[in-house]
Parts: sequence; structure tokens; C-alpha cells
Amino acid sequence: MLEELYQKVVEKDPAQPEFHQAVQEVLESLEVVLEKHPEYRKARIPERIVEPERVIMFRVPWVTDDGDIQVNRGFRIEMNSAIGPYKGGLRFHPSVNLGILKFLAFEQVFKNALTTIPMGGGKGGSDFDPKGKSDMEVMKFCQSFMSELFRHIGPSTDVPAGDIGVGGREIGYLFGQYKKLRNEWSGVLTGKGLQYGGSLIRPEATGYGAVYFGEEMLKTRGDSYDGKVCLVSGAGNVAQYTTEKIIELGGKVVTLSDSGGYIYDEDGIDTDKLAFVMDLKNNRRGRISEYADKYRSAQYFAIDPELDYNPLWDHKADCAFPSATQNEINAKDAQNLINNGVFLVSEGANMPTVPDGVNIFIQHKILYGPGKAANAGGVSTSGLEMAQNATFSSWSRKEVDTKLHNIMISIHAQARAAAEMYGEPDNYVLGANAAGFSKVADAMIAQGVV
Ligand code: NDP
Repeated sequence: MLEELYQKVVEKDPAQPEFHQAVQEVLESLEVVLEKHPEYRKARIPERIVEPERVIMFRVPWVTDDGDIQVNRGFRIEMNSAIGPYKGGLRFHPSVNLGILKFLAFEQVFKNALTTIPMGGGKGGSDFDPKGKSDMEVMKFCQSFMSELFRHIGPSTDVPAGDIGVGGREIGYLFGQYKKLRNEWSGVLTGKGLQYGGSLIRPEATGYGAVYFGEEMLKTRGDSYDGKVCLVSGAGNVAQYTTEKIIELGGKVVTLSDSGGYIYDEDGIDTDKLAFVMDLKNNRRGRISEYADKYRSAQYFAIDPELDYNPLWDHKADCAFPSATQNEINAKDAQNLINNGVFLVSEGANMPTVPDGVNIFIQHKILYGPGKAANAGGVSTSGLEMAQNATFSSWSRKEVDTKLHNIMISIHAQARAAAEMYGEPDNYVLGANAAGFSKVADAMIAQGVV
């Protein structure tokens, strides 16, 4: 029956391979859950959960500094609101299309269910590329984007946040335009600046959370990060704070990357080098290759389109934290990781490993934390930002970090408990899918056919 449903999903939207991939992974995990819970099948939860509650698609016209008119496409996928307002980031990247955002929104539903905070799932964005644009152009784009989106969102309806290409700068412009159009200040976006309702630790949260999740997995084997060599991909928000937390917990990060290539620094990226990367990426908006110009201990490898694997994943290491984008670890990369001694993968990015790669991790029984569990720290802290906005309060750094840490411990415990219940204690994919799905399914049944 689930195979039939999967085929229907593919037939209905044949041009959405990333969405098919995300659906397939969840449906595969659900076989055992549905066996135990015939009520989910009877209520047609699988059929209902793969269909977004609402999809909004719109034109985003804007004018460049040179006076040229540009047109981009904007999206918001309101996937599921059974357990709370739609919640999920906005991605600005030229690769963005409906299928990619549907995969992200679908994953978000289960992830948010695991956070222990009442949040439904959504995702949005545009094929706009902020790279190489002036601040003024980014502002004009954000204002145009929000001039349509503001009709569809609200603090109790749908609360977007950042994702690839959407950081503090973009959230600020989006928030300003929403406030102007609605004539109201509300916590309608998360990831805001500290001066206007943002939460401490929100920028750090996804990366810190992925490292906390990995720490919980390590504890199941009586191990810690002390002395562990770690591969991190990406050089954006998630990669930066993943690196910061690994350093703090005694590990050594030897790689970072961007869409041009990656650096390998055998000596490790220490706090000074990380400060350089943060300035390079967040202020100067430069390329990671500049790291190797600055530090002699590092080598830079430009992307080689001829290769059928990513050499970043082909270094001796203990742990890997994919933190760039979807499908950045293919089956060959997964095997290379295993061959190089990696026994822990904690996914900061969403769906960074292809299904065959996931199977390799599971077969080898390594500690593998899938994105929807391991990177849930970002949205969890967004939930904490919403709570602070709703009560006109702001919590200390320590308070938010402690709450984030406890949420990651709880997500790990839920995923592990569900995996154990279904007979595969080390399978966090099964555990996260089963636990997240059950919570949403129970809420959907309680609310009737809506
Ligand atoms: P950023 O835009 O801050 O950084 C993204 C990084 O990944 C950049 O270094 C970018 O390089 C690189 N990258 C992006 N796309 C590609 C690509 N197609 N090929 C190679 N490199 C690429 O985004 P985030 O750090 O916020 O997001 C990274 C991942 O984490 C995404 O999968 C996102 O969905 C996920 N995530 C983010 C959360 C958050 O709170 N921000 C929460 C949960 C998950 P370049 O600059 O050259 O494009």
C-alpha cells in the first residue's frame, strides 16, 4: 500500500525528485509503525500527510542598482499545521524550486514534532541568488518578496525563519517590510536581530544542536568528542557554529567548504581561524579559498566536476558533519567515510545523504543522526524565540543554551526509544520518523478530516 502511495506521489509531480526521496524514506520507516497502528491507515494519514495543506507561489519583481527589472519566483509551502502554526525557513538560492521546498517542508513536519514545542511544518523561499548582490538589491528583493508573503503569514499562522541564503540581514529586511505593511510588531519571523526581538543563541542553535545530538550518540558508546577529528562541509551559519562547538568540546575540525571547493587544514581550525571564516563569510562575503591564502597549514581544493565523489569526505577522521546542502554525500562518499574510519555522522544540513548512502551507514551500524533529528536545534530555538516574543521577555544566553541542550537530549531520547520499540535500537532514521510521525498522526486523528 505504501509503495502504491509512493508511486502516486511520483506520478502526480514527476519533476520533484527531492520530494520523492524524502517521502520514500519516511514511507519505508512507516511500514512497521502502520502494522502496530492500524488506526493511522484507516484515517489515511500517509495519504494526507504527503499532500501540502497549501502551496503559495508568486511573482517577485524588483529593480537592480543599474535600473534593470528582474523577476524571481517566490514560494511558501504550508505543509502541516496539526500540532502548531506552520514553521520553517526561507531559502534564497538559484536552485530553489517547488520540489526542493516540498521536500524541506515535509521533513520539517517530522522534525518540528520531535522538538517538544507545538510547531507545524512549512518552508519557503525563492530562486533569487543573494550572492554578488548589493545590500540595496537584497533589501529591494526582500521587500518585494514580503509584499506578497505578508498576506499568508502571522505569529499564530505561519512563522518563517532563515535557511540557505537567508541570514540576519535578509530577516531584518523581511521583518521591516512585514511590520510596515501590517502596521504591527509581532514575532512573525524568527532569527531576528537581538535589538528587535531576536533570541540569543538562535544563530548558533542549528550547529550547536547537531553537535549536542552527536554527543548524545557518542554517550551511548561511552565516548566523547575529546581528540576526535571532524570533517565539516559548508561555511555558512550551520557549519560555523558546528565548528565552534566541536572546538569547545575538544574535537578538531579539519575541513570547511563552499560551492567553489573545500579547504583541508591538518592542524585544525582553531578559534582564531574560525573568527577569520566568520568575518570572511558573514561580513566580507568572500570565498573559502581565501582561507588557504591566509593559513599555510591549509590546502584548497576547487570542485572538480569530473569526479563522481566529493574528496572532502575522503580524509582520515572520526566524525562528519555535513552542513551545506541536500545530497552532498553520495554512496561512494558514504563508503569513503566508513573506509576512513568515520563512525559518527550528525547531519546539520537537510537530507545531505542520498538513500544508498544512508543504507551504507545503517548497515555498518555507525552512529548516524539524520537531519530531521540532528539539525532540529535551529527550529527549536526559533520556537524559544516565539515564546519570548509572545511574553515580551528575553532570556539569557545560558538559559536558551540550556533549553536547547535539553531539547536535543530529548530528541535523541525520543528517536532512540522509538527505534528500540520497533526493534532496531541503533537506527535513528527509523526512530526519528516513527516518533515524529506518530505525534502528528495522533493530532490529525483528533482533529478529524480537515
Ligand atoms: P548558509 O547559506 O549560511 O550556508 C550554506 C553553505 O553551504 C555555504 O557555504 C554554501 O556555499 C554551501 N552550499 C549551499 N548550497 C550549495 C551547493 N549546492 N553546493 C555546494 N555548497 C553549497 O546556509 P545554512 O548554514 O543556514 O544551511 C546549511 C544547511 O543546513 C542547509 O541544508 C539548510 O537547510 C540546513 N539547515 C539550516 C538551518 C538554519 O537554522 N540555518 C536549520 C536546519 C537545517 P556558497 O556560499 O558558495 O553558496
